[in-house]
Amino acid sequence: WRQKMKLIIDSNSQNEAFARTVVAAYITRLDPTLEELADVKTAVSEAVTNSILHGYNNGEGEIEIVCEIKGQDIMVEITDHGVGIPDIEKAMEPLYTTKPEWERSGMGFAFMEAFMDELEVYSEVGKGTRVKLSK
Ligand code: ATP
Ligand code: MG
Repeated sequence: WRQKMKLIIDSNSQNEAFARTVVAAYITRLDPTLEELADVKTAVSEAVTNSILHGYNNGEGEIEIVCEIKGQDIMVEITDHGVGIPDIEKAMEPLYTTKPEWERSGMGFAFMEAFMDELEVYSEVGKGTRVKLSK
C-alpha cells in the first residue's frame, strides 16, 4: 500500500486552515481518537503558521505538506522556501520569539513537541525550513 499525500499551498492564513483540515481528513483512515486528531491539527497549524509568518514574513511563497502513514504511525512534513532559521536550538526554546511585536508567544515549537511524539527541524538561512512531525 502506498498512501503518501502531498499538498502545495500558497502562503496565506486562509490556506492554513485548509491545510490542517486536509491533514485531519487524510489521517481519519487510521481511525484516530478525537484527541489524536486535535493534536495533529494543532501541530500542523503551528508549523504552517510559522512558515507564513516567519518563513515568508506574511509575503508570497509556497508551503509543501507531505503526509505519510506507516502502520499506525503518522508522519507530516511541512516545508517552506523562506528565510530559514539561523539558530534552530534557540528557536525551539519555549518562549523564544523573534516577533514579540506581533504578539507571538514563542510557544509554537513547544506545542509541536508536546502534541506529537517526535519533532525534527531542518533549516538553512536563505533557503528555507522543514519541520518533520511524527506520532
Ligand atoms: P507562537 O508560535 O507562540 O505564536 P513564535 O512563532 O515566535 O510564537 P515558535 O513557533 O516556537 O514561536 O517559533 C520560534 C521562532 O522560530 C520564531 O519566532 C522564528 O524566529 C523561528 N521560526 C519558526 N519557524 C520558522 C520558519 N518556518 N521560518 C523561519 N523562522 C522560523
Ligand atoms: Mg509559531
